[in-house]
Order: sequence, then C-alpha cells, then structure tokens
Amino acid sequence: MDQPTKKIIELTKELALKKFSNHEDFFKLIQKICSKKEIPLPRYSEIFAVYQKLKKQGKIKKNPFLEEIKKRPIRSLSGVAIVAVLTKPWPCPGQCFYCPLEKGVPKSYLSGEPAVERAKKLNFDPYLQAKKRIEILEKNNHPVDKIELIVIGGTWSYLPSKYQTWFIKRCFDGANFSSSKNLAEAQKKNENSKHRIIGITLETRPDYIDEDELRRMRKLGCTRVEIGVQSTDNKILKKNKRGHGVEETIEATRLLKDAGFKICYHLMPGLYGSSPKKDLLVFKKIFSQPEFQPDMIKIYPCVVTKGSQLYQAYKKGEYKPYSDKQLINLLIKIKKIIPPYVRINRLIRDIPSWQIQGGSKVSNLRQTIQEKAKEQGVFCQCIRCREIKTGKIKKQDLKLIKREYSASNGKEIFLSFENEKENKLIAFCRLRLPEKNNKFIFSVLKDSALIRELHTYGQLVEIDKKNKKASQHLGLGKKLIKEAEKIARKKGYHKMAIIAGIGVREYYRHLGYRLQNTYLIKLLK
Ligand code: SF4
Ligand SMILES: [Zn+2]
Repeated sequence: MDQPTKKIIELTKELALKKFSNHEDFFKLIQKICSKKEIPLPRYSEIFAVYQKLKKQGKIKKNPFLEEIKKRPIRSLSGVAIVAVLTKPWPCPGQCFYCPLEKGVPKSYLSGEPAVERAKKLNFDPYLQAKKRIEILEKNNHPVDKIELIVIGGTWSYLPSKYQTWFIKRCFDGANFSSSKNLAEAQKKNENSKHRIIGITLETRPDYIDEDELRRMRKLGCTRVEIGVQSTDNKILKKNKRGHGVEETIEATRLLKDAGFKICYHLMPGLYGSSPKKDLLVFKKIFSQPEFQPDMIKIYPCVVTKGSQLYQAYKKGEYKPYSDKQLINLLIKIKKIIPPYVRINRLIRDIPSWQIQGGSKVSNLRQTIQEKAKEQGVFCQCIRCREIKTGKIKKQDLKLIKREYSASNGKEIFLSFENEKENKLIAFCRLRLPEKNNKFIFSVLKDSALIRELHTYGQLVEIDKKNKKASQHLGLGKKLIKEAEKIARKKGYHKMAIIAGIGVREYYRHLGYRLQNTYLIKLLK
C-alpha cells in the first residue's frame, strides 16, 4: 500500500470512535467526512489497512465494525447485487474438445469453483441458493433490493423446459421468501417485493438460439444471454469440435438483439489449433464487424483439465498452452482495441489451480495485466474500467455522450453520462434502431425502437430512499430514456420497447410505459 494520506488517517480515526449498527450509516458517514475534507472516497481495503496500523500503534481502540469491513465486498457499490445460482448436473449436446468432464457438477464446470461449491452444498436447489445468498448479503449489510440473477450450469437450452420453468419460479420464490402457485404469480409478487429481480441472465450455445427458445426465455423473465462463441474462426471451431460455426453466432446475435436482449460473448483464446495472432484477429473482427458487436465479453483462456479430450492431446505433445507471458501480451492487446461500449466482465475463470494440468495458473491475472498495461501506457476503455464505483458525482461535470455503430441489421446508439476529464462513466443506455424490414419474433416489437439496457453506477441506494449524492437518484436514467425517445421519434419509430426485468416494471410504468407481451411499451407521439 502507498503511504496513506493524512486525510485518510484522520477519516479512519473518526470512524474508529463511532458505533455503527448498519452498513448504510457507516457508508453515509464516510461520504460526509470525505466531502468535508474534499477527498475521493477511499476503498474499504485502504481504510482497513490504516485501521490495522493505527490499532497496532495504539493510536485507536478496537472497533468491531471496522474489524469486519474487509470482509464486505464492494459488490453493492456497483449498483446491483449479483446472485449466481447453478442448475443441476445435466448433459450437454456438445462434444467440445476442451470441456472438462466431472461427475456431480454441471458440464463444463469443476468442483472447487466457488459458485459450484456453494450450489453443491445446497444440492442445486434454486430456492435455497437464491434465498441463502440474499440472506448472506443482507447479513453483511448490503442493500439487496435490486438483484441480477445469473443462472449458470452449461447449456441452459438443453434442460427440459419443465425444469427450466420450475427452476426460475423457485428462484423468484427464493427472492420473495415465500412460495407461489406458479411462475406468473411468483413474478407478479416480485414486482413489489423487498428483493426485486431486475434482470435474469441465462447461458447457452449459439446454435440453440431460435424463435421458440427466445419466446421461452422472455416468459421466464430473461434479459441477458451469454453465448459460448469461443472463436469466430470456423477452422478452429471445427478442430475443437464445437458443433457449430460462426454462422450460428451471427444469427443468434441478430435474433437476440432484435428481441432486445443484452448479449455477452464467451471467448476462449488459446484453443487447440489457435495462436495469439489468430486470437487477436478474432477479437478485432468481433469489435469491428457489424454482425458481432457483443455488449459484454467474458474471456476464458483455454486451460487443460483432466477428463477433457484436450488433456489427451496435451499429454501426447500435440497441444501447447500459451505461456503466461504470451497470454498477458495478448490480453493487453485486446484491452487496447476494446470499444468504450463493451464491458469485459471477466478476464479469466475462477478455476482452482489444482484442477489445471496445463495453461495459466496466475490467480491475480487481472491485476498483473493492469499493472503491465499501465507500464505500457495502455488504458482499457471498457465499461468496467471506467465505471464510477464510489467516486463523488458533481452534476456540472456530467456530459451526455452519443456513440453510434452498426450492428446486426440496425444501428446501436450508446448514450452515456460521463465525466470526460476523469474518463469516468456514470450512466448509460443502449438504444437499438433495428432496420424496419427486419423479421421480428415478437409482433409487439414491429415499428419499435428498443432500449436494451439502462444502467447507472455508483452507490446502490434502496428504492425508496433519497440519497442526493448517489448517482441512482440523480434521475440520470430518466434523462437517458427521454433522450433515447427523442432520437427514436426523429428517426420515425412509432414506439419504444424496453426489455426490463420483472423488478423494474414499476419504474417504467411511472414513465408512461405499459406491459405488453413481456415488454414495456410506450407510443411515441
Ligand atoms: S457447449 Fe459448453 S458444456 Fe457443452 S460440451 Fe461444449 S463447453 Fe462443454
Ligand atoms: Zn477494461
């Protein structure tokens, strides 16, 4: 740690004198002191380190609340609480060369991964997984009134549809802390529940995205889909027995976007038959060609695990994983070309190193890359690296920025509020203007512009409470919607449709939107 500044020492001393009964009061006091001292909000880890030092020096007394703060992740400060749940072990139609095969966990997952271990203990029960996670977050004084539910466990679309419906219904029940008769009732209850599910993410293969699947997904309340793209090079896909080509990725991307879904691509550098040069081309292609343009990406560098076909090739010397140096250099080159409207959700997967037979085991890869990138003067422009997190928000520093790009037979407009001087992103909205003659799966979306995502960063504030400095209550979301409506109207669209999670329907109703066939719709006069 760098030398703590005098002001952080003073702040910590002040905090140590107080008694706190909840996290919100604690956070508010930090905000108040920082604003008085005119310093940016420090990280909890910084406060904790200073606290430990002062305590050791006998300058302050033990404070039970400060003792615990290191255990509190900053998760709740990024806007929404994440609740990840796993489906039961189930086969997948794929034969991927690198896919690990372990009994007792969903295909492509491995025991030892934190989310897998949590789910295993609860026998993959969705109700218990959701409820327990919320309880733990609540116990740690995190606001959990807004939840993004992430369902993981391999190929969602291959699970029997009866199980899918039951699984999601039980997740809603878990968030509602009570059981409902059916999915519709559980969803309705959640609209006004204390723990609202504002988005659901499902993961699947691109060749399983079709009209029927999208209808099912909407019915369940899904708002974001993660697809296993891995590469855009058909030769590499074939060599790795993915069972689909790039054509399926292109078609899935179009269908998903025209139905308003947010899209996250899973990409795998270092596949059998690839090279850093070929991998970089894959990334260049997905960020420059209109038929790709994902909203988010997860990079899972290929590793060799026992039980995979790749392990056999590795043992025979037919496959050589990238060295750490090769991988780090490649990832920095990817960061260099990432557009400002894409979010890197992950750079590596949380695979325990004892499961890795070949490939990178660097556990703090993200940090190493960040340091190396800084040395080289590379600053990643992705959403994640520019999110405001806990910084102070001054209205006069905000600027409305409009970025436009072509994507899957349409135009995407990324509207955002940013602090340009500090290169910080405060809020954004993804507006899609599909070409009018596109074929729409949902007739309600005909002639309609689409808002696929609306996000404000900063401290998560509970739905009914006003906190003037937190960005979620500056009305930025509302301003972005107004701007999006204005643009759509000008371009001749008659309607605006928003894909919204169950738990945010109320918010949009207040802005004049009405629920129609799972979308929130407003006529643009
Ligand atoms: S699609 Fe995913 S789960 Fe299925 S075999 Fe391939 S990597 Fe494994
Ligand atoms: Zn980034």
